[in-house]
Amino acid sequence: MKHLALTLCLLLGLASSFAQSPYDSEHNHFCHRCGMAVPKTGKEIKVTGVKQAPWYQCCPMCAFKDVLEDGGGKGTITAYGAISKKEIKFTIKDGKIEKMQPTTAIVLVGGSCMKNKIFINRKNGEQFVAKHDWAKNEMLKPAKQLFMKIKKNANPQSTCATCSVDLKGHEKTAFVILTKEKKRMVSCCAHCGLFMMHKLKDKVKRAITTDFVTGELIAAKKAIYVVGSKLLTCCSPPTYSFKKKSDAEAFQKKNGGQIHQLDELLSNIGKVMKHHH
Ligand SMILES: [Zn+2]
Ligand SMILES: [Zn+2]
Ligand SMILES: [Zn+2]
Repeated sequence: MKHLALTLCLLLGLASSFAQSPYDSEHNHFCHRCGMAVPKTGKEIKVTGVKQAPWYQCCPMCAFKDVLEDGGGKGTITAYGAISKKEIKFTIKDGKIEKMQPTTAIVLVGGSCMKNKIFINRKNGEQFVAKHDWAKNEMLKPAKQLFMKIKKNANPQSTCATCSVDLKGHEKTAFVILTKEKKRMVSCCAHCGLFMMHKLKDKVKRAITTDFVTGELIAAKKAIYVVGSKLLTCCSPPTYSFKKKSDAEAFQKKNGGQIHQLDELLSNIGKVMKHHH
C-alpha cells in the first residue's frame, strides 16, 4: 500500500513536471512576446484579429504591448480573471481600447510576467493582494489607464534586428530573442535569429522561432532546421525551422538542404552557413 502511494506520487510528480516543461508544445503555447510557456488550459490569454494571430500571451502586459507593437494597434484580446476565471475581452482599434468587457477590469502590475495578473474588478484584485505579500495595492491599475500608459512607451520594431529587412510578410519565419536585460529582438528568419543568438551567447534568456508549416511559435532549442534549400527566402543560405522532424524531412526531400539541430548549428555557425553558399 505504502509502495503504491509512493509510486503514484512519483508518477503524478513526473507527469506534472512534464506538463510544465517550457519546451513541451504538446501542453504549452509560447507567449508571442517573451516566449514563456503558456499552459494550454483553454483559459489562456489569446489575441485574435491580427494577421499573425491567433497568438497567445503569458500575461496582460505582454498582450497589451504586443497588440500595440506587433499588432499595429489593433486586435482582440481575450483573457480570464485570475480569481473569477470569467472572460475579459478587449477590442483594440487604432491603438485605443474601443470596447472592454467588463469595464471594471483591473491589472496587477507585479514587475514580472509571472506576477502580472488581470481581474474582472478591483474587489478581486484586492482579494488577491491581501493573500500575497509581494503584491501591493498600488500595483493595481485600471486596464484602460494601463493600456494608455503602455501605448506611450510602445516601440514597434518594424525591421529585422540583424539585417534590417522590413519584417512585414515574414510572419511564417520570424525568430524572436529575449535577452536577460529584457530586450526583445525580432529577426526576419532563423538565419538572422541564429546569428543574433550566436552573437549574444549567454545573454539570451529565451529564443523562439516559427514552425514554417503551421506558423506556430516553437522553442528554438527544440526546432529542427533546414539550411541551404533551393526554396529561397530573405537571407542566404535560406534557413527554415520546423516543429516536427517529419515536416523538416518532407521539406528537405522537396527543396533540398541539410537538417540541423540548434546546438550543433550554433557551435558551427560559420561553417554551416558558409558551407551552403
Ligand atoms: Zn509574455
Ligand atoms: Zn534579417
Ligand atoms: Zn531573413
